[in-house]
Amino acid sequence: MEKGFTITYEYGDNLYVNPTNRCNFNCEFCLRHNQSSGGSIYTHNLWLKREPSKEELLASIESWDLSKYKQLVFVGFGEPTYRIDDICWVIDQMKARGEKIFTRMDTNGTGSLINGRDIAPDFAGRFDMVSISLNTDTAEKYEALCHPAQPGAYQAMKDFAREVGKYVPTVMMTVVDTIPAEEIENCRKICEDEIGATYRVREYIAD
Ligand code: SF4
Repeated sequence: MEKGFTITYEYGDNLYVNPTNRCNFNCEFCLRHNQSSGGSIYTHNLWLKREPSKEELLASIESWDLSKYKQLVFVGFGEPTYRIDDICWVIDQMKARGEKIFTRMDTNGTGSLINGRDIAPDFAGRFDMVSISLNTDTAEKYEALCHPAQPGAYQAMKDFAREVGKYVPTVMMTVVDTIPAEEIENCRKICEDEIGATYRVREYIAD
């Protein structure tokens, strides 16, 4: 593995893709603030010395035996929707070659703000699942926790979650289990009743 250029990595049953280190958020809990030499996936150096080209993304993915993995997950150490056009190209190439692996993106849900256009239709026929970090139950708390660069990020994230549900079989929205029980329940209502997505309370991973 080339130092400072980990494009893909195995974790659990899945293969993960690290397309960018750019992010429009600066979350209090971001693992990028807090790398340790512990035993997590982040012991890989996921800081990229430069962004891989779309051809390098594809070549890195195809260097693995994809039949070994349950999911191909676009996430990485940054917000993957910065690379939405290149990621779509990569998936199209793979599908054209007959690849059938389950595809997922983990995102902060503000890719339409980042790209200045509605990116939800881009997920059609390319992704089996999108997982979006809901994080909390109000825009005020979201701003304080995630420090988004653009105004209106909380509403934009919820709008994207609803919109992308028209194009992918499963939209999941997540919170971590360290928030108060009442907030967990408020988020469940937002996810299930307001958005119509699948709710997941994730175990917090320190680093
Ligand atoms: S959205 Fe993700 S990568 Fe970006 S700052 Fe938050 S936790 Fe870190």
